[in-house]
Amino acid sequence: MIIPETLIETERQSMLILLTGAAGFLGSHLTDRLLAEGHEVIGLDNFVTGDRENLRHLENNPKFRLMEQDVSNFIQVDEPLDYVMHFASPASPNPSSPLGYPNLPIQTLKAGALGTYNSLGLAKAHRARFLLASTSEVYGDPTVHPQSEEYWGNCDPIGPRSVYDEAKRFAEALTMAYHNVHGVRTHIVRIFNTYGPRMRLDDGRVVPNFIQQALRKEPLTIYGTGEQTRSFCYVSDLIEGIYRLMLTDEALPVNIGNPNETSIKDFALIINKLCQNEAGIITRYAETLGDDPQRRQPDITRAKSILQWEPKVELTEGLNRTIDYMRRKLGIPAGQE
Ligand code: UDP
Repeated sequence: MIIPETLIETERQSMLILLTGAAGFLGSHLTDRLLAEGHEVIGLDNFVTGDRENLRHLENNPKFRLMEQDVSNFIQVDEPLDYVMHFASPASPNPSSPLGYPNLPIQTLKAGALGTYNSLGLAKAHRARFLLASTSEVYGDPTVHPQSEEYWGNCDPIGPRSVYDEAKRFAEALTMAYHNVHGVRTHIVRIFNTYGPRMRLDDGRVVPNFIQQALRKEPLTIYGTGEQTRSFCYVSDLIEGIYRLMLTDEALPVNIGNPNETSIKDFALIINKLCQNEAGIITRYAETLGDDPQRRQPDITRAKSILQWEPKVELTEGLNRTIDYMRRKLGIPAGQE
């Protein structure tokens, strides 16, 4: 049978992709996007911080397979892979949650160091492309504002955030080395604060903490002065940026995030308003997180020019969708919180 040229082209465009951290918040949204684009996904996760519920809807999807494994061990895949994407890592800095990386310091260092080494080795062996999920944490507590990709960062190598920051900085260096020495086609995305459905309610980060407190009509706990800033990006915007980046030839790091900067105190007021919570806020100076970056805002000039990408979802719209998700998870009926 003669296969039409167009079909051959379609087949070639469908890739087999191994994604580490597929059960996580970002990993599961990325899995959905890759499947929607017609690719096949092998999702690797050891469920230390990932959640099986995030992948439940894919149980009978023939284009998705789960590989339950720790990314810091050697990864064996026999079928030819087209792409490896490394998203596995704890990501919450909050020591009061068992899922925060201060409580998983060695796992976090291993996921960023050995996990990147194994994922890059896999990509090299398969002549596959590679994308690293890096982070705005490589900029540490920045002295330059907003942060562009040229900024080198301000990190304490043994500080409370070092297990995450230094692992990701090492991961970036290793990715560039594989690109330069072995010619692996690599990409690095520096992800700024992202929020949305499937964030874990118990990981201690500001979005799930504040929304849960607001839905329960409790005061929102502000660590430190509340003057520190973040710039929050809705998950669908982030995934769009990553999908565009993975199809380019750009090897240098690209910031993806929303430049809409807000202080944590103002952020708390917005969430209280959206949840009609009148319990207000309380300031917990004692719980100030060590090395808490004081200002964070992405410069997305590169993403705009290379990817023709910029975020579209307004903060209140994204928060309303996230509040709906968390309300359902907590079993609080709409209007009765
Ligand atoms: N934060 C807060 N109350 C909370 C949780 C976090 O005030 O209940 C603050 C935290 O100190 C930081 C900001 O919110 O300044 C964002 O924290 P998150 O853990 O979400 O992530 P980060 O951006 O620091 O990695």
